[in-house]
Amino acid sequence: MPAELRIGSGWDSHAFVPGRPLRLGGIEIAHPSGLAGHSDGDVLLHAVCDALLGAIGAGDIGSHFPSTDERFRGADSSTFVRHALHLVEAAGWEILNLDATVILQTPRLGPYAARLRESIAALLAISGSRVSIKAKTPEGLGLPETAMAQVVILLREKQP
Ligand code: MG
Repeated sequence: MPAELRIGSGWDSHAFVPGRPLRLGGIEIAHPSGLAGHSDGDVLLHAVCDALLGAIGAGDIGSHFPSTDERFRGADSSTFVRHALHLVEAAGWEILNLDATVILQTPRLGPYAARLRESIAALLAISGSRVSIKAKTPEGLGLPETAMAQVVILLREKQP
């Protein structure tokens, strides 16, 4: 019988605020403003986390890491992704590929594309060839101070 597949999708948005480091995909990006949030505000990792959890029907990032919990103030969002990945693996799944779109006006992410891909691949312990990170500007949305991320992840039953 062919291996069972599962798909997961994640979406998140955060507002830019001055005087905070910009964390995206687990790396720091040079920019005068960063993303607001109870944690480090890493909108891309939050969407990755939700896609992982969604694929196995395990709730969402807020149900695992409530923004009212002081333990997660300023938290490195890679902690959330590691937790979600652990649940995915423990449930018997492996990641086939991840496709992400980051939507923001500035900064341009082109110069960071390779590092973003490497960072996500390393965090998920998969080859960079299984990771795609695309960047778009929010044309017509009127949201220049907002960063959004959308992520789709495909899982396959772990082979014995
Ligand atoms: Mg978030």
